[in-house]
Amino acid sequence: MAKVLIIEDEENLANNIADKLRAEGYTVALAGDGEAGLEKIRDDQRPDLIVLDIMLPKLDGLSICRMVRHDPSTAHIPIIMLTARGTEVDKIIGLESGADDYLVKPFGLGEFLARVRALLRRGMGRPMMQEDEMASEDLRLNLTGRRVFKGEEEVKLSNKEFDLLTELMRNRNAVLSRDLILTKVWGYDYFVDKRTVDVHIRWLREKIEDDPSNPKRIVTVRGVGYRFEG
Ligand code: CA
Repeated sequence: MAKVLIIEDEENLANNIADKLRAEGYTVALAGDGEAGLEKIRDDQRPDLIVLDIMLPKLDGLSICRMVRHDPSTAHIPIIMLTARGTEVDKIIGLESGADDYLVKPFGLGEFLARVRALLRRGMGRPMMQEDEMASEDLRLNLTGRRVFKGEEEVKLSNKEFDLLTELMRNRNAVLSRDLILTKVWGYDYFVDKRTVDVHIRWLREKIEDDPSNPKRIVTVRGVGYRFEG
């Protein structure tokens, strides 16, 4: 069963949520301040989902959210943010936070549970996330080592090219829009021209396609974006 980490300094609320989740069969871990929370995110038993309060002692929730998103080993973990004020919602859904969902206190436990289930389902739909290697024909991508091989030969990619290829391969045979690629690869902190995606696709094709002018792996879907065939 999925493991949920609750980082919340209001003990009553944290315990209520924890009880509800446990009653549904989830494994629950609790942290009462930001630093303890970050430690639990990074330990060996990584959570499958994080419930994160914004106002926390020691380290605030928005900072934690950003740190989780910028660490490749935790970037995929879904995050639900809890906020005491509607005025904070802008910050959460704004460009910089990287949260997947949010709830404004006070919220019903039923609604909370529905959000948790939805996010975990979405996570389960990305089975490649947990695997160390992805392959398509003679192209192999090693996630931990961040290395790519074409046949026996290693292909040297820049960081962004690697992230881009990873995202494309994780969603193979699905069309990814430029917007989605920008969000996933360039992150929430950046405002980048959409043509940046096209430029990086071109560079990537030169490295992994047999004939870059007639690409077979990374296909252009006109007016939408790109698709990795495999
Ligand atoms: Ca709080």
